Amino acid sequence: MSLYRLPLKWSIFFSLAIFSIIVLGVLWFFQIGMLNTFYRTIKTSDVQQNTDTITSIIDNPELDSYIEVMSYREDMSIVIISDTGAVIHKYLRQPSILGALSDSEYLSYYNEAKSNDGSYLYFIQSDSLAVNGLNDSSLSTEVGVENLIYAKIIKNSANEELAIITESSVTPMPSLFSVAVVTALVISCGIVFLTLTITIFLTKKVAKPIESLTTSAMDMASGDADVVFKGDGFKEVIALTDALNYASKQISVVEHLRRELLANVSHDLRTPLTLMKGYTEMMLDIPEEVTPENLQIIVDETERLTNLVNDMLDLSRMQSGDLVLNFTTFDIIALLNEIVKRHSALLSRMGYSIKLESDDSLWVYADELKISQVIYNLLSNAINYVGEDKLVIVRAITRDNNVRIEVIDHGIGIDVDKISHIWDRYYKSDNNHIRGVVGTGLGLSIVKNVMTLHPGAIYGVDSSIGAGSKFYIELPIAKGDENDEIYE
Ligand code: ADP
Repeated sequence: MSLYRLPLKWSIFFSLAIFSIIVLGVLWFFQIGMLNTFYRTIKTSDVQQNTDTITSIIDNPELDSYIEVMSYREDMSIVIISDTGAVIHKYLRQPSILGALSDSEYLSYYNEAKSNDGSYLYFIQSDSLAVNGLNDSSLSTEVGVENLIYAKIIKNSANEELAIITESSVTPMPSLFSVAVVTALVISCGIVFLTLTITIFLTKKVAKPIESLTTSAMDMASGDADVVFKGDGFKEVIALTDALNYASKQISVVEHLRRELLANVSHDLRTPLTLMKGYTEMMLDIPEEVTPENLQIIVDETERLTNLVNDMLDLSRMQSGDLVLNFTTFDIIALLNEIVKRHSALLSRMGYSIKLESDDSLWVYADELKISQVIYNLLSNAINYVGEDKLVIVRAITRDNNVRIEVIDHGIGIDVDKISHIWDRYYKSDNNHIRGVVGTGLGLSIVKNVMTLHPGAIYGVDSSIGAGSKFYIELPIAKGDENDEIYE
């Protein structure tokens, strides 16, 4: 089974355990397994270096005391002989192989070195000393110990040939071996302790928070929209926690909107349908009730239903990107005049008035039908939320290179907290419309979507509670008047 399929804490533990075993293996191999080899190599090199040192001071009158100190300090036996085999200096360690050799045997090392380019290195096991006839009682060398004998031919300042013959043990002392074992044991315990500590630390900082996040995610999946993710520790875990909390918040917003949408849609569809059913049944039961007024109510409600369904379709097409705008260059002031005129007659009968403040003509390159829908929606809202003055002002001005259309009322205004939500689909404030008309909550969402689809367009609102609202849209002024081609 792959390590990554295990729970994170076991994965961490096994990874660290494998790492520790490798480290311990390497440690024991080099510290204990290779101790003899390393010691032998270092000791051999030391003996050769010491021989070189003696060579460099061979003519020094203090040579004798130097050699004595070196022999004692480096635990070496040192013998210097002439080319006739006469011993010139001799300092022996205890026990010593060199001590058991005769002058003629020194001479044989001299000759070996001579025939070997001036130096001769020889390793000898203490067990094999007997074979060489050196097993006499004066030679109390330990069994199983390896020694080296190194002979080197040198010349002094009088150009006489001499041989430095040195001897040293290349087997580490048992105490050194014990120190190495104890050191390796202490380091091993440290590594095991560190492995456990790091496992516990990482489990606490990574595995535990992830487990808790998983549990919360499962809760969220099973429908708990208010779940709060709690995760602390590493930066990534905190970032994941934040992302999940954000996702959870968004999901609850979407869930809220979904419920609201269902409630709104069913309410919006049911009201006209109930009215139409009621009137139709009434007219079926009482033939005198078949009056133009009652029929008009049914026509109005049908129209309302059609508008609602069209709005919903438009919005979803705009949001899915399916709606292709039909751009033309048109006079937006003329469009404004027409919309205002259409409303004025009806509104003046109800005591409302619309004031239009505009230039003569301003040309824009946009989808005329969609822009008229935008203006219509803003105007309907202004009328629905009109103030006591029952006045709606529609103003067209030029600003920079834009034409800006403002629709102003002096009604209830919009709360600062709610201003960012009014552009959302199906958002309706709790306030009842002044005219008691039931809104769909789609009007401003359509405004937002249409304006977003127009390059360079701006939309927004300035509003304060009690003082009224000023909704505005801005479109870039077309530079070529009625010439469509230059914009394509
Ligand atoms: P509705 O059909 O409810 O009017 P809209 O999308 O047109 O839907 O508007 C969304 C909300 O914005 C409204 O419910 C209302 O709270 C607020 N609103 C829009 N226009 C005005 C206005 N002129 N004055 C005050 N509030 C407004």
